Amino acid sequence: MSVWDDLTGQSAAIEVFRAAANSAGPTSSSPASASPGAATAPDSMTHSWLVTGPPGSGRSNLAYAFASALLCRNGGCGVCADCRQVAARTHPDLAVLATDRVIISIDEVRRLVSSSQFSPSVSRYRVVVIEDADRMAERTSNVLLKALEEPPERTVWILCAPSEADLLPTIRSRVRSVRLRVPSTADVAALLVKRDGVDDATALRAARESQSHIGMAHRLATNDEARARRAETIELALSVRSVGDAVRGAARLLDIAGADAQAITEERDAEERAAALRSLGIEPGQAIPPALRSQIKNLEDDQKRRATRSLRDGIDRILTDLLSLYRDVVLVQLGAQIELVNEAISARVRQLAEGNDSSSTLAAMDAIADARRRISANVAPALALEALLVTVAAANSSAPRKVPQ
Ligand SMILES: [Zn+2]
Repeated sequence: MSVWDDLTGQSAAIEVFRAAANSAGPTSSSPASASPGAATAPDSMTHSWLVTGPPGSGRSNLAYAFASALLCRNGGCGVCADCRQVAARTHPDLAVLATDRVIISIDEVRRLVSSSQFSPSVSRYRVVVIEDADRMAERTSNVLLKALEEPPERTVWILCAPSEADLLPTIRSRVRSVRLRVPSTADVAALLVKRDGVDDATALRAARESQSHIGMAHRLATNDEARARRAETIELALSVRSVGDAVRGAARLLDIAGADAQAITEERDAEERAAALRSLGIEPGQAIPPALRSQIKNLEDDQKRRATRSLRDGIDRILTDLLSLYRDVVLVQLGAQIELVNEAISARVRQLAEGNDSSSTLAAMDAIADARRRISANVAPALALEALLVTVAAANSSAPRKVPQ
């Protein structure tokens, strides 16, 4: 077993990180006895890394796997105390900046930069992970830039972002980029079969409907309620016909988004808590010793803060599902021979495609983008979803093809 096992469809990126971790010196020697530079192959190991890839491609998973490989005495075995602590984000030589806020504050980065100056306490390296390095204002990026320009000998920065273009050129020029690809639906399905014991058909459908977002695919494949919520979202969009439907439909979509957000939040909180307890050496069901309660309390406070963002994420997922529907419809209308995301309801997709022309499908897609923009500009989600469904209703009502423009 190793920390690389469950990173699906990213073998090229894994090779880069594996080679870097291996060239980073003997894993068994203590930081004090290893002579810096002597065991380091300059061509493969460096101090600053950038992992880029679309959401769900496993950017942060890869970043933490690399962190484990650097901090674990066995190169990332996945089972030792170091690896467990990395998984729980509690390793003493790991600093993490993960935010659910829109912007990373300059103070957060300053704190991180000052912690990066210390020597590692137990491992070969001190590793600093910034999960959303694209969420920094220029001023904040410049604080980080100084740290990247003069990195302490044993500090490794791992930044994650959707793409290189999301970072300032000055930052880009100081990091080694490793780009993840969107795993194929076959890769994601194979992972679900192997890792989660899901049957082939369910795995393939979940991989398609999640558009290769690994976390979402896992949920759709293993959680009946998540699957039912997605199906209801699509069905609702297919059946809305009037303004009245749109108003009722928007209210229902909000309920679905809320239920989905709550379910995800609860699952993630429970997983994090279990990982934190494991890393503190507390068995499931065992009482938490008083000395450790404050650590768990901190985690719970973090979780409460994050919960406030989750409804918006739930709405975002619904919009992604709706967009996949109209993407499929337009592909059929254009006669493109590309696998449908909603293959499972391809008859309905084709019916809608035939009853309509592509301009109204594109209008529905634009309306989804508008709804996203409005919600991020703090328009009440119900209003934004209503406006969206009114456009969808128009696209649904059978218009003759080739309407004069
Ligand atoms: Zn390990």
